[in-house]
Amino acid sequence: MHNILARRASLVKASEIREILKVTENSDIISFAGGLPAPELFPVEEMKTVCQAILAEDGMKALQYSTTEGYKPLREMIAGRMRALSIAAQSEDILITTGSQQGLDLSGKVLLDEGDGVICESPTYLAAINAFKVYSPNFIEIAMDEQGMRMDELETALEHNHRIKCIYTIPDFQNPTGRTMSLERRKKLIELANRFAVMVIEDNPYGELRFSGDRLPPVKSFDTEGRVIYQSTFSKVLTPGIRVGWICAAPEIMQKYVVFKQGTDLHTSTFSQMQVNKFVELFDIEEHVSKIRQVYRRRRDCMLEAIRREFPDYVTYTEPEGGLFLWITLPAVINARDVLLSCLQQKVAFVPGGAFFPNGGHENTLRLNFSNMTEARIVEGIGRMAGILKECKNT
Ligand code: PMP
Repeated sequence: MHNILARRASLVKASEIREILKVTENSDIISFAGGLPAPELFPVEEMKTVCQAILAEDGMKALQYSTTEGYKPLREMIAGRMRALSIAAQSEDILITTGSQQGLDLSGKVLLDEGDGVICESPTYLAAINAFKVYSPNFIEIAMDEQGMRMDELETALEHNHRIKCIYTIPDFQNPTGRTMSLERRKKLIELANRFAVMVIEDNPYGELRFSGDRLPPVKSFDTEGRVIYQSTFSKVLTPGIRVGWICAAPEIMQKYVVFKQGTDLHTSTFSQMQVNKFVELFDIEEHVSKIRQVYRRRRDCMLEAIRREFPDYVTYTEPEGGLFLWITLPAVINARDVLLSCLQQKVAFVPGGAFFPNGGHENTLRLNFSNMTEARIVEGIGRMAGILKECKNT
């Protein structure tokens, strides 16, 4: 079989999260594994109204092919939302993508040749690693602390590696750690990107899900040289099943994204794009997001309280100000994959952290998602995990 496959097919393997998620589809499992939004918050009734209105008013257009760049009123609406974040964007600067995941794949296609350097946070988003890996880059991991990616390490990496093409960062409530990059570091990041003439991919699916602290301007808002390719999505503020995301970038580079997107899917579903736009027209999306924030804040607080109360002292954890995840570090001798096997026997799931490090290692870490389970299940699940962790220490 492997003779007929391209060499790059051997570079990728099924994502560990997807494999674990297969088990967690079983409803009696308490799953902290996926990055799933809370489905009970999806605006199902509102979407019925939205779909009916579109089909009644503009049905033929909704079901027809459309342009690769995307549905113009949606691009205008998104550009307005970008400007509210101090990003100087017009509708022409926006390309609609099929989820922001497509943006990552397109960035790989547009930017990366074999052996090019991609700088990323250590750890970073697993599906970005997998999307980039296909292009055989060299991943350069930069350590993080509570302020996000460390700028001293970033500067050293840029000084010592001469084939770096881009810095991939998730500044807000990072997946998988939940950490947020400080304002000072955002400014330093753009300064370094300009000095070393590298691109920045700013991936921001969670920025609107802040529960505490002050909102920080995106790195893109400090970009004066067209260095930042900003991407975001409606997955976490509306619904992920609709698959509508976007890229905001300088025109010269955007043209390349458009050509590659044509080869991938011609365009993102016309009907989906119109649904997002109509939802924002007919309903108050800010109010909807504020409901999501309230629920997730309670779930985060509940998980943190349970961890503080139940987990052994040797466990350290992040305390995110928003988003969907927190990050656990165990003593170096404990392997999170072994902990997972014991947890699965007690019907609790999470993702071992090793998978989030492109160059391997860090097997004593793990990611917990708090958005998808009720508070009662969070308390129960953390209790079961705590029992297993206490036993690990004794063996
Ligand atoms: N980037 C990050 C950091 C993510 O966590 C996710 C979703 N888990 C995505 C991109 C992709 O999201 P989507 O394709 O649904 O927009």
